[in-house]
Amino acid sequence: MKKGRQPQVAYFCMEYGLQSDFNIYAGGLGILAGDYLKGAHDGDYPVVGIGILWKQGYTTQVIQPDGTPVDTYPIHRYDFLKDTGIEVEVEIRRRMVVCKVWKCDAFSNVELYLLDTDLPENEDPWITGQLYGWFGEERIAQEMVLGIGGVRALRKLKKKIDVYHFNEGHALFAGLELIREKMDKAMNFREAWKASKKEIVFTTHTPVLQGNESHPLDRLLYMGANLGLTKRQLRSMGGEPFNMTVGGLRLSRKSNAVAQLHGETANEMWSDVTNRSEIIAITNGIHRPTWVDLKMKNLVAGSDSSLWKRHQKNKSDLIGFIRKKTGVLLDKDRLLIGFSRRAVPYKRSDLIFSDPAIIDPLLRKRRIQLVFSGKGHPLDDEGKAIVRRLTSMQKKYPRSVLFLENYDMEIGAHLTRGVDVWLNNPRRPKEASGTSGMKAAMNGVLNLSILDGWWPEACQHGVNGWQIGEARILKSEKAQDKKDSKALYKVLTEEVLPTYYKDKSKWIGMMRASIASTWDEFSVDRMLREYYELLYVEKPSDQ
Ligand SMILES: *Cc1c(COP(=O)(O)O)cnc(C)c1O
Repeated sequence: MKKGRQPQVAYFCMEYGLQSDFNIYAGGLGILAGDYLKGAHDGDYPVVGIGILWKQGYTTQVIQPDGTPVDTYPIHRYDFLKDTGIEVEVEIRRRMVVCKVWKCDAFSNVELYLLDTDLPENEDPWITGQLYGWFGEERIAQEMVLGIGGVRALRKLKKKIDVYHFNEGHALFAGLELIREKMDKAMNFREAWKASKKEIVFTTHTPVLQGNESHPLDRLLYMGANLGLTKRQLRSMGGEPFNMTVGGLRLSRKSNAVAQLHGETANEMWSDVTNRSEIIAITNGIHRPTWVDLKMKNLVAGSDSSLWKRHQKNKSDLIGFIRKKTGVLLDKDRLLIGFSRRAVPYKRSDLIFSDPAIIDPLLRKRRIQLVFSGKGHPLDDEGKAIVRRLTSMQKKYPRSVLFLENYDMEIGAHLTRGVDVWLNNPRRPKEASGTSGMKAAMNGVLNLSILDGWWPEACQHGVNGWQIGEARILKSEKAQDKKDSKALYKVLTEEVLPTYYKDKSKWIGMMRASIASTWDEFSVDRMLREYYELLYVEKPSDQ
């Protein structure tokens, strides 16, 4: 591709994980968006990001002495944002809402514009209050700020944009704004839709049906999100209720899923949607300078002892970090397994505890040490119950099980560098991609994972990590959980533990293989190349 004229891309996302204490991210979606922007800057790609300046951000998790997680919402202020002097207006519930546009270029000089409604003149200053904090009307209001406000901000900033990339369905109203602009210039609805479609690409993330947001059509009209379109016109895009993913698929020229397996799942999942864009698969990648200890990579070609020493240093750093947070001192010469995921049932955070007869002696004798972290969604009681089960295990095995409160980028970076094994056991095929395992793999931390998300693309069992069980999916969730926990114990006791304690040289060989086999393949540089080649540059075959 010629560097001279690359498409100028505006990337829309509800959340960005750029730095640990810049609290405008919740989890994987934001981490991907942050890594994408940093990678785009490093690779000199003409990309600007559009997002929201969340006043309280995502929940801050505090674990009570009895082990119960509580959500708190401190107010954040950031002194590194620049005032662009630009404001745009969006009419929400028939009231004009002013959105101030901040520029953020504090991290690797990424170009990110953040909209903010917390202004004295607004009757609804709280729209940009909490990330994913509310539902129904408030969520629509937030999405109107992101999508409609976002396009208006780009116009005022005088950005020439060739491609509008909606990272997840939240940004969909940007598409309605693009249509409105064209209808104002005398195109009819169909023509405006067709012309806007040429400019839009869409990334779908969640393979869990309930995770794909939808809104009643009447509510969209009440909020003013339709921008003058009729109910019938809206229905022809997103169905009824209006599904944001279906809308994204119909409003875009091309879509992508975030791993190869997810590509298959997403195509199956949306096969009934007529008139939708093609869903290709582009596997996620990570921004190495943010997540990876580059020294580990340099030592891959060196001696066993030098690579091991560096890993032990990273492990000691993590152990010090954990001690400071919890007072507990872990043992650097015993196997340390990390698990850190959003607390939702399908991720099965407590699967490893499912058979006490097997796990109890291992924990009592401290043959394994487990460190967990992860938040539930603030409105999800099930998520809180999962965290509660993990903290109760910590109480039972205080020397070998730990839970770190308030999972964030700092904890994520420490864990994926310093543990020995990175455990991942979702109920297949619900993990779209996952990127924490990529961080671990490139740090020489061995993945022990179900064949879900990105892992089937990388896993060479017993060579660069381990797979748990095979790819087969059972009809009953209960039977699946039982089968998977058995498989987990088998590989843990027959392969992971013996290799760690009895065959260090094989272990170190696997660390080498882990780093070498994932280094290029799962970096954000590769992902960006594919975004440009497969998604952004229009091919004659695209409709
Ligand atoms: C890397 C990271 C994620 C994404 O990891 P998954 O593999 O999708 O769970 C989420 N949150 C934080 C804080 C991270 O560092």
